Amino acid sequence: MRARVEGVVQGVGFRPFVHRLACEHTLAGWVRNDRRGVLLEIEGEHAALQRFLERLAREAPPLAVIERLRTEPLRASGERGFQILASAGAGAAATLVSPDIAPCRECLAELFDPRDRRHRYPFINCTNCGPRFTIIRGLPYDRSLSTMAAFALCAACRREYEDPGSRRFHAQPNACPACGPTARLIDSAGAAVDVADAVAGAAAALAGGRIVAIKGVGGYHLACRADDEHAVAELRRRKRREQKPFALMAGDAGAVEELVELSAAERELLAGRERPIVLARRRPGARVAAAVAPGLAELGVMLPSTPLHELLLADAGTTLVMSSGNHGEEPIAYEDEDALRRLGSIADLLLVHDRPIETRVDDSVLARAPGSSPAGVLMLRRARGYTPGSIALPLPATPLLACGAELKSTFCLAKGSRAWVAQHLGDLRNWETLRSYSAGIGHFEALFDVEPVVVAHDLHPDYMSTGYALGRGRAQLVGVQHHHAHLAAVLAEHGELGPALGAIYDGSGFGGDGTVWGGELLAGDLRGVRRVGHLRPVALPGGDAAVREPWRMACAWLLASFDGEAPCPPPIAARVARERWEQIAALARSGVASPPTTSVGRLFDAIAALCGIRMSVSEEGRAAAELEAIAEPAERASYPLAVLEGEVVVLDARETVRAVVEDLGAGVSPALISARFHNGLADATARALTLLAQREGLGTAVLGGGVFQNRLLLERCAAALARSGLRLLTPRQLPPNDGAISYGQAAVAASRLTATRAQ
Ligand code: ZN
Ligand code: ZN
Ligand code: FE
Repeated sequence: MRARVEGVVQGVGFRPFVHRLACEHTLAGWVRNDRRGVLLEIEGEHAALQRFLERLAREAPPLAVIERLRTEPLRASGERGFQILASAGAGAAATLVSPDIAPCRECLAELFDPRDRRHRYPFINCTNCGPRFTIIRGLPYDRSLSTMAAFALCAACRREYEDPGSRRFHAQPNACPACGPTARLIDSAGAAVDVADAVAGAAAALAGGRIVAIKGVGGYHLACRADDEHAVAELRRRKRREQKPFALMAGDAGAVEELVELSAAERELLAGRERPIVLARRRPGARVAAAVAPGLAELGVMLPSTPLHELLLADAGTTLVMSSGNHGEEPIAYEDEDALRRLGSIADLLLVHDRPIETRVDDSVLARAPGSSPAGVLMLRRARGYTPGSIALPLPATPLLACGAELKSTFCLAKGSRAWVAQHLGDLRNWETLRSYSAGIGHFEALFDVEPVVVAHDLHPDYMSTGYALGRGRAQLVGVQHHHAHLAAVLAEHGELGPALGAIYDGSGFGGDGTVWGGELLAGDLRGVRRVGHLRPVALPGGDAAVREPWRMACAWLLASFDGEAPCPPPIAARVARERWEQIAALARSGVASPPTTSVGRLFDAIAALCGIRMSVSEEGRAAAELEAIAEPAERASYPLAVLEGEVVVLDARETVRAVVEDLGAGVSPALISARFHNGLADATARALTLLAQREGLGTAVLGGGVFQNRLLLERCAAALARSGLRLLTPRQLPPNDGAISYGQAAVAASRLTATRAQ
């Protein structure tokens, strides 16, 4: 019998596994890698062949993902023994690349075993764990096509590499202190620091309150003690990062539980081999500096993601801030010279090593989403540990590239029923991000052998991603409306084509009618949608400037809600000059540089500003996140929000704003105001969707868009919709925010082209 196995089957110990299985069932034959995956021939008793196949699928090594297994009968040739053959390089690459994986249990045991030859070796790995995507330069996955190429295996490592019985058989990054990468501790000028052990030296400096840049698997972090007020405040000052929360890394699960309350699901996520940052509720009295996550009820925590981090945390003996290695909004540093240049002014010391990072990958961020998604998990940033895992498409695609949006950008390549969504690349607004964006597209095209004949893009004419799409040439272009892409992304990841209703709430998206969209009720499928409702528009005073100054939205909403009169409310008057308020009110009234917007994100900004939360933000949505954080979870009352039924449904939030003002006047706490606002919006959303479902004859509702990163809103919407009988789909594998746009565009393009061909 011949069997072909496709999926993530190279570099994960698949061939030795096949070898062992064949020997156990006394089957003869061979196995080898080729560009499509793994090919094998076995011969023996029929019953033994059957058992072999069953176990092949069931007992595959931990990192393997079998996507397809096809067999064909062969005439027996009387072969003896079972062999692992050399790779065959010809043919089209369709092998899937594994993400980067945290150290496995066996490697960890060796790491801390003083008798092991890899005791305290920061780059220990095996076929079940270690770096993959971030070190791969090309396919087939082989040491010579990775950033390990410069390290020649020593005799001991080569023996393991060539021994089918070893856990390190064909482990491409296999290394040891004698032959592999080494860690070094340097100062901010690049000079070596004289320490016996670089990791222990860095740990001691951290424990003593210094700031250390650390080269991780996908880029640099900036670290300091999490409980040191001075160190954390100093890191925040040097990074020029005023508001964004810092992530923490704790040595083990026990240390995590001292900081945050964990459910069983959260505990599992944290310890998963992807090692994401998990957002969880902060324990009262948790020993964490105030500057770590100002204004937030949650902390982002992770466990060590590499052997180097395992050692570092064990040596430091304290939880560390592990924040991205960058200034302000720049992409994180991952190349050594660049890191020294950019991080030298922030860090006192740098813990570096000589294994280059080929691809920059940020930490992933997840949170539990109670009651909303079947898996109970909400992806907020998809990167390390998940990329480049493929996501299925519900219909076959001709080779295509989808360029995504602008904020939290990703791109997506697709071919057949598979889509590869790039890791979170950051905001596509600077040259550095554009460079990793276009280089990343080239890298993915080569890795997954996709030559796009179709290029999908957002309709926004000013997005860099749109410019990139138009500049590629020779491909068929497919423009996809932003909120349609949000809806399509959720449908497609659930394997559905539609039709469905969608409530798509986000910051902003190009609608094409001169209005800035962001509170849209859509009806349709992957191919197309109709806008069947929206939030009542108000002015966006000063355009993008209103995103950075949420109080401008409070002004716009007050004008709309009180017949053009907007006296400055006390929480804002205390922090915004009267003339500025009057200027912005005049601007909003005039309509100059103030396009109408239906953005729900901006409505959140308005309520947050009315509650006095933040007058200016460094990042979109920060004020809304803090509004969510202060909400009183037990509060069940809600503000009125009218659902007006006309040709389209209009969500009229003016009553809501009037009720907020009334409560503020009566001295009601922001915690209650926030909760009542969330409840009212969720209730109105459910009423609008229920009404539209009847009108349109649809039974499925989709929630999507960046506003649904707000888990309180998601949970309350799901609860309100549970009574409607509508089937609810929410984002799961991809974030609700614009990180999912590229995949949504891919689904829409695939659907439209299938339709064209069918006609
Ligand atoms: Zn391992
Ligand atoms: Zn070695
Ligand atoms: Fe969006």
